[in-house]
Amino acid sequence: MNVVSLIKKKRDGKTLKLEEIEFLVKGFVEGKVTDYQFAAFLMAGFLQGFDNNETSALTSTMLHSGKVIDLSEIKGAKIDKHSTGGVGDKTSLILAPIVAAAGVKVPMISGRGLGHTGGTLDKLESITGFKTDLNLDEYKSVLEKCGAVLIGQTKDIAPADKLIYALRDVTATVESIPLITASIMSKKLAEGIDGLVLDVKTGSGAFMKTLKDSTALAQSLIDTAKSFDKKVIAFITDMNQPLGNYIGNFLEVYESIKVLQGEEIDDLKALSTTLSGAMIYLGGKAESIEEGIQISEEMIKSGKAFDTFIKITQAQGGDVNYLNNPDSYPKSKHNEIIYADKDGYLSEVDTYQIGMAALELGAGRQTLEDKIDPKAGLIFHPKIGDKINKDDKLVELFTDKEEKIDEVKKSINKAITVDVKSVEKFELIKKVLK
Ligand code: URA
Repeated sequence: MNVVSLIKKKRDGKTLKLEEIEFLVKGFVEGKVTDYQFAAFLMAGFLQGFDNNETSALTSTMLHSGKVIDLSEIKGAKIDKHSTGGVGDKTSLILAPIVAAAGVKVPMISGRGLGHTGGTLDKLESITGFKTDLNLDEYKSVLEKCGAVLIGQTKDIAPADKLIYALRDVTATVESIPLITASIMSKKLAEGIDGLVLDVKTGSGAFMKTLKDSTALAQSLIDTAKSFDKKVIAFITDMNQPLGNYIGNFLEVYESIKVLQGEEIDDLKALSTTLSGAMIYLGGKAESIEEGIQISEEMIKSGKAFDTFIKITQAQGGDVNYLNNPDSYPKSKHNEIIYADKDGYLSEVDTYQIGMAALELGAGRQTLEDKIDPKAGLIFHPKIGDKINKDDKLVELFTDKEEKIDEVKKSINKAITVDVKSVEKFELIKKVLK
């Protein structure tokens, strides 16, 4: 096989075989295929596309570039959830304990926040002492003991993805559905799962802005999961406004505790229990997603889900005092409020800008090396379609960075549209694909 002829083959719109893809990806990881050759291959693939078999071949090669965790010694179905990311999306913290309490194992390997989106690991690490860098033995032991474990990516998991993503990032080849699919699935399949629930976001705060693109990504993820014999369900869900009201790391833990303790936070609870319901169904503990949702509600009502959250936190070294008494958590130096300057209806939210505002307050990072402030963030009170009266509290800011407050207030005001005409509320779950 010859690198140049394979690049040419893809450039000319032909289909590559598994062994040809393996040759290129392995060669790149081993340094035998140069960065500029692999970049040319990525761009050829970006422009010509990859079919389902090629996407599976890319996924498989990237998956087997590292360790595939074997969880066969742990009894029961292992089901995870992956979200394509958004603003205020804290469902992992809620659904992992619900699903574990319902008897389905949740081995979850999550990421950190970057840019406008938050990350599960940062949220968990805002709980003092919570360790997300467990070794494999600890990972299995927490999973067995608590039914769920939440850790970060290790260097052994799909190392090819890290190298390829870094090159995609600087060669304008990130936004390719097959490349995104291979990147996501290679990491998820390494967890040792039997099934996966996907939450593909769509809207102003999502990676995929349109329903068409989100559906295409969901379908590609489903096809690939099935080609590895994994059970899979995908939901396309709204990200035209923050999910729940709290954005920022401990703020999101705080709101998750509220849901786990039975508070009705409409969109956040509905999405969390829908995803957990689907996981319980895939794990064989319910006959349908609807029954899985009912079981999820019972897990909350009985207190079992919250108890499981406490158990996981203890097992991973976290200080449960902050979960039992979240109001005792340290507070930001500054707490500012943005009030409505007119009557009307909330008609539009630039969710990306709201995520960026939380980042500016200290809750997020521009690059993976930036430090975050676990206390910082904001509470976004209204939902699209809500009636707004002048002087209503719209947004509360929490930060230690006094110098950022004026600029953030301005950008939040720009990101919110209050209209005189009433508007329809957004549908939270737009599609379910199997
Ligand atoms: N998330 C990933 O893990 N990979 C991509 O390529 C895009 C989003």
